[in-house]
Amino acid sequence: MDTSQLFCPNEKCPDYRVRGKGNTVRNGRSGKQHTQLLKCNTCGKSLSENRNTPFFNLHTPKEKVVNTLQTLAERGSLRGTARVTGHKKDTIASGQKRAGEHAEALREYLLHDLDLDRVQVDDLFTFVKKGEERPR
Ligand SMILES: [Zn+2]
Repeated sequence: MDTSQLFCPNEKCPDYRVRGKGNTVRNGRSGKQHTQLLKCNTCGKSLSENRNTPFFNLHTPKEKVVNTLQTLAERGSLRGTARVTGHKKDTIASGQKRAGEHAEALREYLLHDLDLDRVQVDDLFTFVKKGEERPR
């Protein structure tokens, strides 16, 4: 993992959302998935590798979450995605909602960590954004 692509999630930090400054450093691992722990050297706060992504506190491996979202974009329906992935429709819907709420972080993650190209990411987002709209 390239820690220079991560940024400090602490809004009060002078380096909040600043990339490539080298203020985020590795700080051990934790949990079942051995999540890389990181620390911001500017404000001293610790952060998790998943902290800036929709996967923070989510127990599903992020590759799986991303796969599901990709399937969702391809199939264009929750039902179709549920059939292909074997996940429950509700699970997929909440993942989609979460992705919409963290759209910016997810976009960064897909581009930088998964090396998807912009076209692929835009395709994915057409659907994620749709999921953001809630009936009032
Ligand atoms: Zn900081």
